[in-house]
Amino acid sequence: MHEAPTAEFILKKPHWVQDRLVFDIESSRGTFSPYFKCDTLKLQESIEASLLLSTLPAMCDSRRLTSETPVSESLLHNMRQFSEIFSSWFPEYHALELTDISGDQAVSRNTGRVGSFFTGGVDSFYTFIKHRSEITDLIYVHGYDLQLDDLSRREAITEMGRQIAEEANIRFIEIETDSQKLFRAFGEWGLKSHGIALGVAGRLLAGHLDKIYVPSSFAEEDLMPWGSHPDTDPLLSDETVEYVHDGCEASRVEKVQVIKDSALALDHLRVCWERVEGAYNCGACEKCLRTMTSMYAMGVLAECKTFPHKIDEKRIRSFLLTSSSARKFTNENLRLMESSGLQSSSVYAAWLKILSRSDSHNWRIWRYRRSMGKLKRAIHKVFLGRKVE
Ligand SMILES: [Zn+2]
Repeated sequence: MHEAPTAEFILKKPHWVQDRLVFDIESSRGTFSPYFKCDTLKLQESIEASLLLSTLPAMCDSRRLTSETPVSESLLHNMRQFSEIFSSWFPEYHALELTDISGDQAVSRNTGRVGSFFTGGVDSFYTFIKHRSEITDLIYVHGYDLQLDDLSRREAITEMGRQIAEEANIRFIEIETDSQKLFRAFGEWGLKSHGIALGVAGRLLAGHLDKIYVPSSFAEEDLMPWGSHPDTDPLLSDETVEYVHDGCEASRVEKVQVIKDSALALDHLRVCWERVEGAYNCGACEKCLRTMTSMYAMGVLAECKTFPHKIDEKRIRSFLLTSSSARKFTNENLRLMESSGLQSSSVYAAWLKILSRSDSHNWRIWRYRRSMGKLKRAIHKVFLGRKVE
């Protein structure tokens, strides 16, 4: 990397290095060269993808973007709006200044194909099932929600895609990229950058798909400034490819209620982000246990092949519910268990117990755990002469 000396960044078309499509993205922290690779389809050498990759660095560093290659007129218009929304949400960003760029008229390719981003989670399955008759392609991006070196889960996802493609007669598109480090350098992944990152991946499929669904992270009433949002995802569109943010009408529990009747979902559901070697879902993190609890309350946990069938209540009691979304999901699960007559179950008691803990009690527990962690590391350092995590 080298320091960028100018007040503007120049958009460049990507180039191929063997089977990898490589972009050169200028930033104040030097030039990033993320790659994208797809064995299923030929990725588009898209200057529009270069614009999306350059958006957060330019907004963060307050640099103009220019281009010698014409860029989709509609996308330029949309990205100005996108940047205005983002800069109103997050004060560290400035509105985009797009100068000396000639507009190009993007045209629909009318491929008749519709994609949906798909991780195997509750949101993904909900959107897939809801638009089952329309969706022809599911898209998974290796290097976004899981790290590229998480090889065992990468293989498991490829196998999941192969099976779903066969059973549902759809195409499963896998893209591999190391671009997350660029996005993370200019915005936290969940809060600011994963939506535009999906936008880049979809842009590379322009000409293969007309429309791409982006499964929502939150229900309408819980919407907040977030990387993928119904106000910003559609602005990554133009005539060539349209993005549709989908699923805000349903809560998390309502989505589980829809997917619980799908054999595909019960066979392949994957919600876990924890890295546990060899595990598809760890079955022990808050997200896993929250989903398992919904399925338990609906009477389908035993039918789900990707989770343990026993819920560890002791593990639930160890969680600290500090975020409003975690507390909301817990409340939803408690209401669901009440409607199923499970108020006297130990699972209900465990969730109620942690929901009832005050913020100050949670804080004391967190502080105690942090002290014990430091003590443990110090002991290992002294006696074993090495640092432990
Ligand atoms: Zn988990």
